[in-house]
Amino acid sequence: MIDIEKCRITHYPADVLAKEASPVEEINDNIRQLVEKMKDVMLKNKGVGLAAPQIGVSLRLFIISLNGTREAVKVYVNPTVTPTGELDSMDEGCLSVPNVFTKIRRYKKCKVTATDLDGNEFTEDGEGLLARALQHENDHINGLTIVNRMGQTAGIVHRRQLKRLREQHEQKRRM
Ligand SMILES: [Zn+2]
Repeated sequence: MIDIEKCRITHYPADVLAKEASPVEEINDNIRQLVEKMKDVMLKNKGVGLAAPQIGVSLRLFIISLNGTREAVKVYVNPTVTPTGELDSMDEGCLSVPNVFTKIRRYKKCKVTATDLDGNEFTEDGEGLLARALQHENDHINGLTIVNRMGQTAGIVHRRQLKRLREQHEQKRRM
């Protein structure tokens, strides 16, 4: 049972962001509440996607809303994302890595198979921003963030902010 009240946005370098998440065993009211909480957190922070580990829950589940509205939120439970085609480099940010925007290489297209909140399996083809969002969120449930994906130069450019985030993490741990 997930304590929804305790779910908060997690920032790099939280452990939960660095580990492979577990499959959702059963879609029940607790999972549906979790999804509502994820929508709240994503919309409040003006994101277009959020994965469960980003609020401290290590489950294979993410949401995407490309226009940032609650109505457009799509839920992906236990997704399998298969990228195809060429690579493309575009600026990306992440709610768990605040104030870091950096070019990340992603595939231009991908296919996703997942389960929705009614328990129905669906398949979708993503292109452009959707393909990018799917790969970004899929990284989260596999324990990867843009910090792992950024190039060496970007690592140097954002060194200070990453150090600041690590220090904040240490401070919180000591409190
Ligand atoms: Zn992210």
